[in-house]
Order: sequence, then C-alpha cells, then structure tokens
Amino acid sequence: MKIHEYQAKDILRRYNVPTPRGTVAFAVDEARAAAEELGGKVVVKAQIHAGGRGKGGGVKLAHGVEEAAAKAQAILGMPLVTPQTGPAGKIVKRLLIEEQMPIAREIYLGVVLDRAIAKPVFMASAEGGMEIEEVAAENPDAILKETIEPGRGLRPYQARRIAYALGIEGDAFDAAVQAMTALANAYEATDASLVEINPFVITHDGHAVALDAKMDFDDNAMFRHADLAELRDLDEEEPLETEAIDHGLNYIKLDGNVGCIVNGAGLAMATMDIIQYAGGMPANFLDVGGGASKDQIRNGFRIILSDPNVKAVLINIFGGILKVDVLAEGVVAAATELNIEVPIVLRLEGTNIERGRQILNDSGLDFTVAGDMKEAAEKVVALAA
Ligand code: GDP
Ligand code: MN
Repeated sequence: MKIHEYQAKDILRRYNVPTPRGTVAFAVDEARAAAEELGGKVVVKAQIHAGGRGKGGGVKLAHGVEEAAAKAQAILGMPLVTPQTGPAGKIVKRLLIEEQMPIAREIYLGVVLDRAIAKPVFMASAEGGMEIEEVAAENPDAILKETIEPGRGLRPYQARRIAYALGIEGDAFDAAVQAMTALANAYEATDASLVEINPFVITHDGHAVALDAKMDFDDNAMFRHADLAELRDLDEEEPLETEAIDHGLNYIKLDGNVGCIVNGAGLAMATMDIIQYAGGMPANFLDVGGGASKDQIRNGFRIILSDPNVKAVLINIFGGILKVDVLAEGVVAAATELNIEVPIVLRLEGTNIERGRQILNDSGLDFTVAGDMKEAAEKVVALAA
C-alpha cells in the first residue's frame, strides 16, 4: 500500500527521523494559512502517489504568503504528469506546505527488501535527487549498501560507515547517523516494503533532514497496522484495481488491448509473455486464483470488460482446483448479463474439461476455442488488432 509524502513524514517523525515542518492543505486558503504559520518562505508540494513531481511542475518554492497561495492555486486541481503517472497524469487534490531548507547537499537514502537474501538492505548514494534506477544503471558502484539483520536494525557502525563514505562532516555526521538508524527503525516497525528519502539533505547549519519521503507497506501486514491502513487514499488507486481487491482478485491494469483471465500467477505471467511473443500487448494481469468461484470469474470478466482499451479477451485456464465447468458457468453468467462486444478466445485444459466445453457450447454464445496457448495467443492478438 502506498501513502502520500506528508503521511510518510508524519510517521517518520514519530521514529525521530528529522523532517521539515509542514502542513497538508486541501484548499488554497488552507495553503495560505499554513504558509503564514511557517513564516512565508515555503515549498508548495503536490501530493500524489508518484515520484518525479519536481520535474513535472508539482514542487514550487514561494517567498511569501501570497506567492504561496498563488502557487497552491496553480497546482491544486492540475493534472500532474510525471514519468510515473502515465501520460494522463494525476489530478492534484492535496498539497504539502513546508518550510524551506537551506540545502548544502542532496543524498539518496532507501531501505528495501532484498528477496534474494531475505533481509532488508539500506542503500545510499551521493547522487541525491537522481532516480536510483538511473544511478544503478549508469554507475552501480556509486550505490552504498548495508544489509540489515532483521530485528537488530541498522547498527550505528553501519550508519557511520555510510556517512563516512558519503563524506559527511562536522555536526552533520552525527545527525546523519542518527537519522539513518531512525529510518531503518521506521522501516522495520511499520512493516514497510520500501522507504525512500530522495533527497535526504545536509543543511548549511549542519542538520540532516528528510526532504522527500516515500513509504510503501506490505499489504500482508496491514492487519496489524490499523492506523496505517486508514491512510489509504482511494483517489490515487486505479478504480478497477480497488474493485478487484474487494472481490479477492489479483488484477493489475496494463497498457495493451488484450484482456486476460487466467488462474494462477505463473500461468498469468506466461500468458502475458506469449501474447507479446505473438505481437500483442496485454491490457491487464488478472489472476482469478487457484480456487476461484463462479462469482469471482463473473466479476473478473466484468472488470476486464469495463476497460475501454480491451479489444479482445483471452481466457486461459488450467483447471486444477478451479474446475473447468465452474469456470465455464462463470463465463456464461458474465456473458449473458454483460453486453459483450469484443471477441473471446478460450484455451481450457484440466479437470471437468468435457463438462466445461458442453456448458459453453450449450450457451449459444460466440467463443473462439484454441487448442493450445500459442494458438490462443495468435488468435486473440489477431482479433484485437
Ligand atoms: P519529487 O520530484 O517528486 O521527487 O519531489 P521532491 O520532494 O524530491 O522535490 C524535488 C526537488 O525540489 C528536490 O530534489 C529539491 O531540489 C527541491 N526542493 C524540495 N524542497 C526544497 C526546499 O525546501 N528548498 C529547496 N531549495 N529546494 C527544495
Ligand atoms: Mn524526491
């Protein structure tokens, strides 16, 4: 689960990570009041669940209260386009009004789970402000890494090693060490899957401050963080994905035009691959689950068809726990209640396959049946084109 920058900073503050003073604002007069409170010299920051806001025009410095109000007026309600939002951008509905910092240096800090070693890794780079993916591609040696022993946090010697390697000096050294260990503590205590501070700044007066903050949490741990779960902002989520979660479906919207209904994440990945081998692009990832019910199939179908980009649908099912006849009933129920205007290609295999085929044949609905995955992918790509 993702949250906004101002929410992440509220959390980090509780774990003693230094952040600038700031207030969230949902309207221009709230932004003006916040700027007044902070003395007028502020940063006006668009709050959306995507990075790269600065380059997209979503982060502006203001030198007085009225300028802050004018910047707030300009940013609120604008569609902010960044490399992470897609071309349509995201409408800005919240702002963070924050005191300005006298920046001497910008540094990158991050904590992520390294699945290969099953431990969190603390990362740092002197190239603050740059996307870490870019640094990793161009200059991987510039990324400093320290493995965190689960339950023990980032040890002070590890934080000192990073601060030293970054060349942080003077009062800022201890400040940075304290902030880095606090950051690792916040990551662990909140069951975060990612914490990213880009930039983490050293100020001219020797402070170390989290100027930006991104936190993602492990959805599987949300049950023990009711307070964090409340921070969810449905405005920032793909509505179809939200709906899919409510139906127990694993759905991710993608940019292509071939809708996919598949059971099992592995088969779903293979299906997306084979669609691309056939020259097409999947419109979504949808795993209806190993033991999907007729209702889940129906809802999955409905969600896929409500995406206007979908020009053809491939149903690729291996009936194991989910039996093919149950799937067929779900598909027919969905097809009769929804007005299906796109071609459907089916590739079915597994338990109760004969009964499944019978149900589909008897439905009188128009499906293209394929013998294997390759044929199914070729047919659906051709129909979508
Ligand atoms: P992002 O573009 O979405 O990652 O948003 P950030 O919060 O990282 O802000 C982008 C950039 O704005 C930062 O890298 C800074 O250079 C600049 N910025 C943000 N806050 C301040 C501030 O208080 N003072 C100054 N001078 N620049 C700031
Ligand atoms: Mn940033």
